Amino acid sequence: MQEELLNSVIKITKNRDIDSLEYSLISTIQEFIGCDEISVFKDLQVPGELTVELSLSLKLIGKSEFEWGERTLIKNPPPELLSCLQSACIITVQSNDGVERRWVPINLHDKPVGAIAIVSKGLKSSDQVLLNAFCRIFENYLTILNENERDKLTGLLNRQTFESKLKQLIEKQVLKQHRGVWNEDNRKKHQAACSWLAIMDIDHFKRVNDTYGHVCGDEVLLLLAQKMKQYFRATDLLFRFGGEEFVLVFEPTSYEAIKAKMEGFMELIRTTHFPFVKALTVSVGMSPISPYDFPITVLENADKALYYAKDHGRDQLRFYDELVAEDLIQSNQEQSDIDLF
Ligand code: GH3
Ligand code: MG
Ligand code: MG
Repeated sequence: MQEELLNSVIKITKNRDIDSLEYSLISTIQEFIGCDEISVFKDLQVPGELTVELSLSLKLIGKSEFEWGERTLIKNPPPELLSCLQSACIITVQSNDGVERRWVPINLHDKPVGAIAIVSKGLKSSDQVLLNAFCRIFENYLTILNENERDKLTGLLNRQTFESKLKQLIEKQVLKQHRGVWNEDNRKKHQAACSWLAIMDIDHFKRVNDTYGHVCGDEVLLLLAQKMKQYFRATDLLFRFGGEEFVLVFEPTSYEAIKAKMEGFMELIRTTHFPFVKALTVSVGMSPISPYDFPITVLENADKALYYAKDHGRDQLRFYDELVAEDLIQSNQEQSDIDLF
């Protein structure tokens, strides 16, 4: 038992990203404790409102079969989960049929950021000790991984995590299509929608630094990042890519919807009162993400569109495919054909 326990700790701490860490935690709890359902809930840290996501779950179906549940936003979090997040205390509820629901808080820098929920027929005290220990190991390791994934100034995802996060998103999309979870309605919607990648760069940011100093520049970056977190969906991936450049990845959405969404954000920035700076604008290059693209290609496409926006007056959104279709830029395919000859 001791050796198995040590091996499980080694397995948990072998992970290099938060998604696989959650997966290991759930499998370990299942292996050592055995429950009817185990779920990881996350507070998505959206400023100004509590937004909770069910990040991953494992559910017993039938006698010995298990089913992994997908990431979903929780519209109406159960009151026990809210109490657990607010109090940072373990909450246990026992129903008349002997089913126990236990909510164990997960803290990051002493603040609850999520909870592990366990549904069982009641846990022995030795299992409770084990569960708490697994959750504390998870918590410690989550703190390290979280610091590695995030930009220190803005708290957005950093550039190093871009490739793996984008790959995960694309893999999920391909899986969804292959599993055929789409009903006819969904399928039609999906055909009209695709994922999108945007590169957003602040216009004339050097002037902000030169005129008001670096500290003020940092303040502007911080406020812009907060606006991004508030405005975009909690499931969108928001990266600070470098200096004053941000990358945003959106799950399947129609062209019209993403255009309206991005333009809405640009308008929000135009009308936001930033400290010292009178008016701030951003330029954006956008490219669709096909499941068969390499992340680097999508990034290059969006970058081309961004540079077109910068060269043609700034403060505008440009789409890579539109620019290619209108012959205003060369597609990467044409470019590499030329490079060959
Ligand atoms: P453009 O509209 O063409 O994007 O012009 P720009 O001035 O925004 O772009 P440029 O690439 O010339 O300058 C970017 C500036 O961003 C240079 C640097 O002073 C500033 N910068 C980069 N990283 C940081 C940071 O972490 N903090 C602050 N305050 N400034 C930064
Ligand atoms: Mg700039
Ligand atoms: Mg730049």
